[in-house]
Amino acid sequence: MELPFAESYKIKMVEPIQRSHRHEREQWIKEAHYNLFNLRSDQVFVDLLTDSGTGAMSDRQWSEMMLGDESYAGASSYYKMKNAIADITGFEFFLPTHQGRAAENVLFSAMVKEGDLVPGNSHFDTTKGHIEFRKATAVDCTIDEAFDTTLDHPFKGNIDLEKLENVFKKYPVEKIPMVIITITCNTSGGQPVSMQNIREVSALSHRYGVKVVFDSARFAENAYFIKKREPAYAEISIRKIVREMFSYGDAMTMSSKKDAIVNMGGFIGFREEELFQKASVFNIMFEGFITYGGMSGRDMNALAQGLYEGTEFDYLETRISQVAYLGKLLKDAGVPVQYPFGGHAIFVDAKRFLPHLPKEQYIAQSLAVELYLEGGVRGVEIGTIMADRDPVTRENRYPNLEMVRLAIPRRTYTNNHMAYVAASLINVWERRSEIRTGFRIVKEAPILRHFTVGLEKI
Ligand SMILES: *Cc1c(COP(=O)(O)O)cnc(C)c1O
Repeated sequence: MELPFAESYKIKMVEPIQRSHRHEREQWIKEAHYNLFNLRSDQVFVDLLTDSGTGAMSDRQWSEMMLGDESYAGASSYYKMKNAIADITGFEFFLPTHQGRAAENVLFSAMVKEGDLVPGNSHFDTTKGHIEFRKATAVDCTIDEAFDTTLDHPFKGNIDLEKLENVFKKYPVEKIPMVIITITCNTSGGQPVSMQNIREVSALSHRYGVKVVFDSARFAENAYFIKKREPAYAEISIRKIVREMFSYGDAMTMSSKKDAIVNMGGFIGFREEELFQKASVFNIMFEGFITYGGMSGRDMNALAQGLYEGTEFDYLETRISQVAYLGKLLKDAGVPVQYPFGGHAIFVDAKRFLPHLPKEQYIAQSLAVELYLEGGVRGVEIGTIMADRDPVTRENRYPNLEMVRLAIPRRTYTNNHMAYVAASLINVWERRSEIRTGFRIVKEAPILRHFTVGLEKI
């Protein structure tokens, strides 16, 4: 018999979680104004809101915490992080930041100005937020295949070179400070970008004199997919693939709460000293001195260790197999999910799940609320609420895809939890025709409204 795959770790410490009753959840979600961000974590049984900062650190990472050097300047922890970043990514210059959006804030302060255009593959919400906050425009150049959830395409995160070149041709290069390649591409369903696409985007951008910046939160998962799906890389190690990917970029921003498997932390990597120097000024203003930038020494140590663990093949195989396990349970039951399955999450296609709901009633949000009511499972809407209003017209933006994202924290839940989640969602699927109405917004913030929005049942 062929030996089955099993987790590349065993469990040393556990954290209790509680089940609840449907009538309790009905009360709680109402009190939360039907916004899953407003729930208390103890009102949730399986929390798939995000994979950000919610993973389990290893015994080695916890040991590193004890060795943290909390010196204000020049801490050994800074050098540990610097060496790990140079080793794993190849970027010689770096700035620590407290998380990914802080890295964006610092880098964009140095690079993006009013009226600029920033093309890329379906920019992440905070990335887009930081671009639009500066009165610049994010231009989505993702390939069209990404927006058909039924289509089997190995690299749905890819950038369409023609769309990208059209931006370069249409606008003066001084208005295009960078191209952002998000690896993996969260907004299109945790979908990877191929090495070939990265290489071509980089060559094209550099030909026009435009810098390439990686939004790298899930770079290791992207490398895993390249190894699995791009034939030339089948025999190449994850670490080598990672080094090659980053070799095509001029800088990177990182939310270490994802593939560096820490609860908090981030950084910016730079190829050239000049841009590093320019960004350092903003780092000191917004984050902290350049050798800690919003992080404690112990966190920098855990992050450095996490970069190594997050780029181990067996770890990645464990993680991505678990995501695929959930995906397969759903797909086999006929639940419409983005296919192929993403690296960190399963994306449920809410428009195909609830085709009778009008888009004005927030289809994906309605489904996310139903899933919570059914099993105490918390996912997140990636749809009209998150897409926010157009900054100029203030009209709702209706994205191509209305999704509920079920993000799997790293090394946290077992496959039994995945089976529980699948059963909950399949129950909703079976009674989908009874879900007749959605929601209306009663309260919203001017930017990134999804975090604080208040809703009312129609
Ligand atoms: C999480 C994430 C960010 C923002 O990072 P935070 O640590 O949440 O501030 C930016 N880009 C991508 C692709 C992400 O996944």
